[in-house]
Amino acid sequence: MPRQRVVMLADCQSFYASVEKAEHPQYKDLPLVVAGDPERRSGIILAACPIAKKFGVTTAERLGDSLSKCPDLVIVKPRMKLYIDTSMRITQIYESFTDLVEPYSIDEQFLDVTGSLHLYGPPEKLAELIQARIQAETGINTRFGIAENKILAKTACDNYAKKNESGLYTLTKDSLEETLWTLPVGKMFMVGNRMTAHFNAMGLTTIGHIARTPLDKLKAMMRRKFGKNSDINAELYWRIASGIDDSPVTPGTHQVAPTTVGHMMTLPRDYGTLADIKVVLLELVELVCQRCRSKGYMGHVVSVGCMGADYDRPSGFNRQMKMEDPTNITNQVYRAAVTLLQRHWDGLPVRKVGVSLSQFSSDDGYQLSLFDLHREKSIALERTTDAIKQKYGDASIMRAVSITPSGQAQDRSAKIGGHYK
Ligand SMILES: [Mg+2]
Repeated sequence: MPRQRVVMLADCQSFYASVEKAEHPQYKDLPLVVAGDPERRSGIILAACPIAKKFGVTTAERLGDSLSKCPDLVIVKPRMKLYIDTSMRITQIYESFTDLVEPYSIDEQFLDVTGSLHLYGPPEKLAELIQARIQAETGINTRFGIAENKILAKTACDNYAKKNESGLYTLTKDSLEETLWTLPVGKMFMVGNRMTAHFNAMGLTTIGHIARTPLDKLKAMMRRKFGKNSDINAELYWRIASGIDDSPVTPGTHQVAPTTVGHMMTLPRDYGTLADIKVVLLELVELVCQRCRSKGYMGHVVSVGCMGADYDRPSGFNRQMKMEDPTNITNQVYRAAVTLLQRHWDGLPVRKVGVSLSQFSSDDGYQLSLFDLHREKSIALERTTDAIKQKYGDASIMRAVSITPSGQAQDRSAKIGGHYK
């Protein structure tokens, strides 16, 4: 029988804000946020330190809202390179305790410490030791979920370790009935708002309800709602709820996402109607999403910028909004981009349009939570179009709207780096 593994998910508390505080000791006891666009009240909070959170400031809200809760807020611009470097330094520290370290996101990493315990003693003691090292070397507070596999370690961290004074929590399989299973289904790993509503409608309101439903019955219930392709997902949810996960901690699978992926286009003439600008917007969104899909990133925040033709009398806007969920699906990003355009365009002629996505997370987690079949289909469709475009060039497949006179995709694909081939 294989020996039981010990896996940890180590999370950095308020990561960006903590890095900034370590860099600026003078802000140590002040409420601090990292904001995407500090000059604007509409800029989005990327991270808030624990002191700011005590004032009610939350990640993802607008700076203006934060300031009304906490007028003395210290506002810092994000420095992604510094955060990525710090994240890599932290990986190196973890690697001095075990060679099995898998970065999961910029501030969360899995550690398989099974082979290290004979050197350091019980898992909790080892976690404390690592915590102290990270604190001493980076000034960052870490929290550790400890369990026999990745799913349970992540669950332990999110639901328990983060709420513990010590920042440590060990979740054992034989305690699930009194712990994990009592939590509402919305607390389950991979279950978002939409899926929570579906489960609630099926009468499954706690994680225990899912785990205790025989798998065949769960499959049947989900088929009624999502069709027969939902079997795989039913099994996935059932395994998560039951705490079953054989996946190994795999070093070196981390790819740090860029801060933003964006495209900007100067138009051949002024575009003066909403319909015309929307055509260009769709093309830009398509390009940006395509790049994100090829890299496996999903963005949570979309930004749209429009600039007027008259450089002496600058007009236009550059605004961003947070979408409901991270995505790289063209239609979803386009819908948000159009909302921004309709909200902020002043009606003056436009010569330059830009779109970007930011606040990335990896999209491989999401493939597992593809419940909404419509979403699954749109991803499949977009993967196919991407593959064809890669093979035959961008002009091979275009949305019908791009063939109208406002469309730029046809023209642009004939150019390399803005020049005709
Ligand atoms: Mg964190």
